[in-house]
Amino acid sequence: SFVLGPKITKWDEDKKLWRRRNPQFPYFINGRPKIILVTGSPPNPCQNAIGDHYMLKFLKNKIDYCRIHGIEIVYNMAHSDMEMAGHWEKLPLMRRLMLAHPEAEWIWWMDSDALFTDMVFEVPFHRYRSSNLIIHGYPDMLFKEKSWIALNTGSFLLRNCQWSLDLLDAWAPMGPRGLPREEAGKILTDNLKGRPAFEADDQSALIYLLISQKERWMNMVAVESSYFLHGFWEGLVDRYEEMLEKYHPGFGDERWPFVTHFVGCRPCASYGDYPVKRCLKSMERAFNFADNQVLNLYGFRHRGLVSPSIKRIRNESDRPLVNVDEFGIRNSLRGNR
Ligand code: UDP
Ligand code: MN
Repeated sequence: SFVLGPKITKWDEDKKLWRRRNPQFPYFINGRPKIILVTGSPPNPCQNAIGDHYMLKFLKNKIDYCRIHGIEIVYNMAHSDMEMAGHWEKLPLMRRLMLAHPEAEWIWWMDSDALFTDMVFEVPFHRYRSSNLIIHGYPDMLFKEKSWIALNTGSFLLRNCQWSLDLLDAWAPMGPRGLPREEAGKILTDNLKGRPAFEADDQSALIYLLISQKERWMNMVAVESSYFLHGFWEGLVDRYEEMLEKYHPGFGDERWPFVTHFVGCRPCASYGDYPVKRCLKSMERAFNFADNQVLNLYGFRHRGLVSPSIKRIRNESDRPLVNVDEFGIRNSLRGNR
């Protein structure tokens, strides 16, 4: 049956040894674990030019967040594994990154259609000392309802360790395209509440795996809902004015969502579950809402939440370092490491 690669069994020991021999590649920097964020899109142009434009905006947003927070970013545009092409690509990709970057402590997958909308918030890694998978979701929906949206695989983190390699191996068999993926889709639809009939997707497969092998995996899984590691766009994008009025960046939850994910929009494909116009307008709002937090340091903001053009918000100063102290996001980060 299908495997992601040669069986690896001693990764924790090997990685530890490598790290000891290569102190020039620290896996902890300033009290924070070394993180690689990986995202990607199909190898070919989008079906609409506007789709490519938004791909670029979504990437810019991730570059900004990662630059501010000292996270490395990897962008994949290839089908490295034809068996796992499409949504399943993230599995071989994350495995490859773990093995090629033993210095990385966490590998973070983020969908191309997800945006950071809280540029200040950081994943509270101190809470996850004994977790290897951090994923947004709700335990009750997972184990009581067995809902196919109990977890969201649009933004999640895997610790670089043997456990994660094992998880990927256990997760992958429903992925190979063609018959295995189609047959697995039927099992998933039969077993998960609310799931329409279609070929196996990585999210349903992970949910099914965790439900059916709870004892094996769950003690190392952090199912997180106290902030939006993934936040469904529909309930969020129309509330930005209210958030701006009442709150400020840094909460990461419904007051100021960490991530806004455009599930079902697909501006790069030809179809989606929502009208394209509504999707694009919502994406524009979310992008600018986030971008204003980036521009603030430089003294600008967008003219409005749907406007690509920007305006000055303060005069240039002859004492620039005062602004760096006051408006630099890096300077405002404390604790939380
Ligand atoms: N993706 C990719 N290459 C492909 C197809 C998909 O890298 O050929 C990635 C892309 O980042 C995309 C993610 O897989 O965001 C998941 O797809 P999508 O966001 O459309 O699924 P949804 O979140 O709507 O379920
Ligand atoms: Mn997505």
